[in-house]
Amino acid sequence: MLGEETVLLKGLEGKRGQPEQQPPYTTTRGLFGKPTLVHGPQTFAAVPTILSGGIEGFAETGARSFAGTVLVQISGAVAQPGVAEVPFGVTIREILDVAGGVPAPHKLKALLVGGPSGGILPAEGLSVGFDHDSLAKAGAYVGSGSIVVIDQHSCVVDLAAVLTRFCADQACGKTIPCRIGLRRLAEIGARICEGQPRDDEITRLTDLSADIVGSALCDHERRATLALTSVVRYFRDELDAHIVRNTCPAGICQPKAATRAGAVS
Ligand code: SF4
Repeated sequence: MLGEETVLLKGLEGKRGQPEQQPPYTTTRGLFGKPTLVHGPQTFAAVPTILSGGIEGFAETGARSFAGTVLVQISGAVAQPGVAEVPFGVTIREILDVAGGVPAPHKLKALLVGGPSGGILPAEGLSVGFDHDSLAKAGAYVGSGSIVVIDQHSCVVDLAAVLTRFCADQACGKTIPCRIGLRRLAEIGARICEGQPRDDEITRLTDLSADIVGSALCDHERRATLALTSVVRYFRDELDAHIVRNTCPAGICQPKAATRAGAVS
C-alpha cells in the first residue's frame, strides 16, 4: 500500500499509512508539509535516455500517448522469467517474445497484467499494446509493470477470487466502500469457487464493483475489482461452468456441493 505517494510520505513521517485526497498535491504540501517531488525508480531510469538522446529522442521512444520505456516483470508460464525494459506501446506478444515465449506443454490461457489488482486478459490480449491507454481499454493497467502468463492448468475464477481476497485484505480501511465492499466482493468470488453461488451472483458482482469504483479514494479501490470483472468480461463460459453447472473446467476449485455428494455416495 505504501506505493501510493501520500501514503509513502505518511509512512516516512511515522504515521498510519492512509492516503489523502488530492489536491493539494504533494508538490504543494508533501513531506512534513513541505513541497515534495515523489518519483519511482522508473522515472529515474528514464534520465539516461533523456540525457543521451535529448527531449526529442525521448519523445520518439514509446507510445504516442506515453513516451519512454517501462520495466516489465514477466513470470508464470514463460521460458525465461525476468525483467525487461521495453518502449511503452509494444505489444504484450513482443514482451513475451523477449521472455522466450510460452514453452510446450504449456498453452497460453490468460494474462494477469498490472499486478495483484490487475486485469485478467484472454490469450487474444497478446495484441494489446503495453501502455496506459491500450491496457485501460482492454480492462487492465500498467500498475506494477507485471505480466503473469497463465496456462491451461489454472482456473481464472479461482485466481480472480484469490486476488480479490488479497486486495480486500490490503485495503487500509479509510473508505467504507473499499473496506467493506471489497470484502463482500471477495465473498462472492469464494461462493462461486465453492459451488455455493446465490441467485443473480454475476449481477451482484458487477453492480457492487461499479459502486466500489465509483466511490474510489485511491487507485487501490479503482483497480481491486478488475480481476473478477475481467473474468465476467472475458471468461464467461468458465464462470458459468462454476455457477450453472457447479464444475471447474481446470479442476482447481473444489465445489463444496460435489464434495458433499462424494461423501454421501
Ligand atoms: S480506497 Fe481503499 S485503500 Fe484507498 S484509502 Fe480507501 S480504504 Fe484505503
